[in-house]
Amino acid sequence: MAFDSRDPYDAAALYDMWLNCSRCPTTFDFEPGGDINLDYYHRIGQQARREHWAVLPASSQGGELVFNILCPDCATRLGVQGFEGRLDGAEPIIDQICEAMLKAS
Ligand SMILES: [Zn+2]
Repeated sequence: MAFDSRDPYDAAALYDMWLNCSRCPTTFDFEPGGDINLDYYHRIGQQARREHWAVLPASSQGGELVFNILCPDCATRLGVQGFEGRLDGAEPIIDQICEAMLKAS
């Protein structure tokens, strides 16, 4: 499995650089080091999924893509399930970042 820009977890890891809970100070505990590339974000995204972080894509008022991210504790407290759907491809910003990273690597 490689980075998938339609996977909300991969996309959130790439877009937000790292995952911070939007409701509490918890930060996703990822392993630093290694090359920063799409594989790296894929690894973070899938680890967050396994650890039951909730990643909820939403559009802000300006139409900008935002992710509401909840740590496992907050997700449980709020009764939120992880988002298991797919991004619908209407997020060109993610593809743009992917392309830029591929060119840079
Ligand atoms: Zn939290």
